[in-house]
Amino acid sequence: MTVGIIGAGQLGRMMALAGYPLGLDFRFLDRSTDTPGGQVAPLLAGDFTDRRLLRRLARGASVVTFDWENVPVEPLRALADKVEFAPPLAALAAAQDRLSEKRLFERLGVPTNRFAPVEGERDLAGAFARIGPGVLKTRRLGYDGKGQFRVRSRADLAPALAALGGAPLLYEEFVPFDCEVSVIGARSTRGEIAVYPLNGNVHVDGILRLTRAPWGTPALARAAARHLARVLEHFRYTGVLTIEFFVRGGRLIANEMAPRVHNSGHWTIEGAETSQFENHLRAILGMPLGSTRPRGHAAMVNLIGELPARAAALGEPGLHWHDYGKSPRPGRKIGHCTLVEATAARRDRRVRALLPRLAPGVRVPFPRTG
Ligand code: AMP
Repeated sequence: MTVGIIGAGQLGRMMALAGYPLGLDFRFLDRSTDTPGGQVAPLLAGDFTDRRLLRRLARGASVVTFDWENVPVEPLRALADKVEFAPPLAALAAAQDRLSEKRLFERLGVPTNRFAPVEGERDLAGAFARIGPGVLKTRRLGYDGKGQFRVRSRADLAPALAALGGAPLLYEEFVPFDCEVSVIGARSTRGEIAVYPLNGNVHVDGILRLTRAPWGTPALARAAARHLARVLEHFRYTGVLTIEFFVRGGRLIANEMAPRVHNSGHWTIEGAETSQFENHLRAILGMPLGSTRPRGHAAMVNLIGELPARAAALGEPGLHWHDYGKSPRPGRKIGHCTLVEATAARRDRRVRALLPRLAPGVRVPFPRTG
């Protein structure tokens, strides 16, 4: 069975690596010829809107899936009678626009922060008057904190618009959160749902640095799983879906969703019975889902900008090294490391001691296990 993957970044690469033991084959489509995915499976290079290439990707494929959600949906709709897309294109379209995402959360009863669409100065002044301090974000194509401007006072309104103006925008309430979490789960073509333990995430400058799992109280994890299941059922979703939340006073506030495997789930490769990548493939190919049970207490640290010394890291017992095969560049995710320990306390002690080496020069906040 062949799976077509749109986008050949590290997520696609790890998907392929998880799929080979299942006997699957892969084919990528990406704009670049130099990609993490292209190093492990055949790659078609060209534009995501190139119908000829999309048809070649789909030819003979059991299903076409995504490692990146910001792909123009219209050219894909034109192919929908030739090949199956998973996740469904409606979920992709909703996740591409922060406004439709927030409206979806509201409609489905998933708690989220206050927000307002912004098209110019007057909208923004009105939104600030109603909502107070917040964040102005581009509705589309924002990631890793890009396309965002923090608004603390009225004096920030004009600079925020100047920085982001032109594009459709969303203004949302700033949440002084206690911590950030994400929930990852899969729904299969048979309607089976499997959800992983909650992830506790730490972002620095908008980029994920550290994930620890399992995280939070059982009640918090159950609430997050309920919200996730509601969105999965709404779309009759197939594949892995992620929702990121702020946590404040023990309550979940949805920030955004990603219709794909997620950086905060990389720990599942070594830290869970079945990885998020394998479960995504099982889900979209109609196979039984694998257990999402954790194998201990995991910590995942992103390697950003430059790789630290590999030999020293590999000398650490139980440290798993993932190099995505990307060239170093400031702010670029080029790999990650995972550690799995028998207790949360031991994991925290070890990862704390390792952070100065894995994220040199970066002060990574270390909230108490929620
Ligand atoms: P996003 O691209 O929306 O996930 O934002 C990246 C990161 O910026 C989040 O994970 C938060 O750490 C921070 N952030 C974004 N929006 C807000 C908000 N409304 N309140 C507080 N922090 C935020």
